Amino acid sequence: MSPAPASLSVCARCRRCCTLTPGQEGLVFPLSAADLVAIDQAVGHEAWRTQADNTPEFVAMLGQLFPRSPQGLAKAFPPGGRHWRLAVAEGGRCFFLGDGGCQLSARLRPAHCRIFPIWRLGNNILHLDVECLAIAEASDMPALLRSLDLDVPLVKQVFAQIQGAWGLRQERVV
Ligand code: SF4
Ligand code: SF4
Repeated sequence: MSPAPASLSVCARCRRCCTLTPGQEGLVFPLSAADLVAIDQAVGHEAWRTQADNTPEFVAMLGQLFPRSPQGLAKAFPPGGRHWRLAVAEGGRCFFLGDGGCQLSARLRPAHCRIFPIWRLGNNILHLDVECLAIAEASDMPALLRSLDLDVPLVKQVFAQIQGAWGLRQERVV
């Protein structure tokens, strides 16, 4: 495959978080009811999503992302239950991943996709410890946010939506 043109957005050049390593499907971030309704209406079908079990590994993954919400997570994702996640095509590609990156508009993407790899812990806005071209190329957090077309208020807003979707503890917003 030839290198992607530098004029493409950093995510269109990278696409790493939109392609799963085979066997990791059970650790995909869950879709909220709001994600389901919005994207179903936009695309007119349900082939883009699939269900997965609330395995201990999946719940542990969420526990790392929401360390202050163990009770909320246990209630939202009980053992034996299931959740919705993005479907993947051959090679682990997300259903929505095209040659130019995500085919959904930023506004329509699942909430976690909208802010990845940015996250919030308490009142701190940080990036997750993941392999990500945007992180690698950015000189600091403001540059990283700009390259992802994000800003701190938007990150806080979307993060609050994610927390609210699962009934998790609402962090104090400053
Ligand atoms: S968020 Fe990071 S890992 Fe995901 S596609 Fe963009 S640059 Fe790549
Ligand atoms: S919905 Fe878009 S941003 Fe999210 S994983 Fe799929 S292709 Fe990537």
